[in-house]
Amino acid sequence: MTPAVPTELLADRLRRAGEVAAQQGVDLLLITPGTDLRYLLGAGGESHERLTCLVVPAAGHLAPPAIVVPKLEAPGYAGVPLEELGVDVVTWTDGEDPYLLVSDLAGGPRRVAVVDTMPAVHVFGVRDALPDVDQKLAGPVIRELRMRKDAAEVAQLRDAGAAIDRVHARMGEFLKPGRTEAAIGADIAAAIVEEGHSSAAFVIVGSGPNGASPHHDVSDRVVERGDVVVIDIGGPLPGGYYSDSTRTYAVGAGPAADVAETYAVLQDAQERSVAAVKPGVTAEQVDAAAREPIAAAGFGDKFVHRTGHGIGLDVHEDPYIVGGNAIALEPGMAFSVEPGIYLEGAWGARIEDIVVVTETGCERLNSRPRDLVVLD
Ligand code: ZN
Ligand code: ZN
Ligand code: ZN
Repeated sequence: MTPAVPTELLADRLRRAGEVAAQQGVDLLLITPGTDLRYLLGAGGESHERLTCLVVPAAGHLAPPAIVVPKLEAPGYAGVPLEELGVDVVTWTDGEDPYLLVSDLAGGPRRVAVVDTMPAVHVFGVRDALPDVDQKLAGPVIRELRMRKDAAEVAQLRDAGAAIDRVHARMGEFLKPGRTEAAIGADIAAAIVEEGHSSAAFVIVGSGPNGASPHHDVSDRVVERGDVVVIDIGGPLPGGYYSDSTRTYAVGAGPAADVAETYAVLQDAQERSVAAVKPGVTAEQVDAAAREPIAAAGFGDKFVHRTGHGIGLDVHEDPYIVGGNAIALEPGMAFSVEPGIYLEGAWGARIEDIVVVTETGCERLNSRPRDLVVLD
């Protein structure tokens, strides 16, 4: 069952969305089903060819927010406290033009912002109904809200971290020599659900040379004694918030000396990067804190991706922990710290924790051992 988001929180989010829109010179936000809608209403609905669209006027505009929804899909929003939130419901039936309903509600805007994930068919429909109106993306508005998690969101992310930690704690049940990555991955996916997720969104089992491909999935490769294996797993809880955690394991035997030495470089880099996280530090400084020790050890070109990504109702969202992102961290921001070293044709390793920025530093939401755990 999906836990309900308190109505006062939703009301606050809607109000702040209107305020940020006004600050950014946007008159109207148009939000179709997806995680942004879920954030604002507590239910995301599903995207179809029939238009469902939440219309949120910027602060200072007189009209209340409204949701345009096909009559036959309106029951899907029965659990949303639309009346308490002051959201008008405008239903439509097949044969009507829902985009005209949106333009009727719009009240002569100069600029509308459409949610980043709006299907093109709806973007063009809105454009035709409001032909002289400037269109831009709503991402810069919504991310100002979603990037800073409130206490209820942090609690959900904490639960998600604990749930995926329980799966990693069981890795010895699944990751054994003689089994294929695919068979191991299927067991892990089942465990992700058993431990409280609503689904397994991704299961990476990168054994031996496959570990050198950061976004490897699973394959028919049989895991052998002595393999180093990257396990990167996660999924959403019923409330919609994601887990995402990577650990690297050695199967059946301790690692060779050169592997242990390289892994120690990675573990040190991940520690330094987590230690760098606090308010005022920039995203790119956190990235640099992971990258510098890896480069100093001669593996700079083997760390082929950004250090991390924000996480919440989406598994990848703002803020991105990457060179060039000068955004200053603030309490409530949640993101992964996941440096890796990838040696093509040989093996790879990654260590990934989710952290939440606190007033003085950060809280790690994953706490399984970060060394190269030997499973026998
Ligand atoms: Zn990824
Ligand atoms: Zn990640
Ligand atoms: Zn991951």
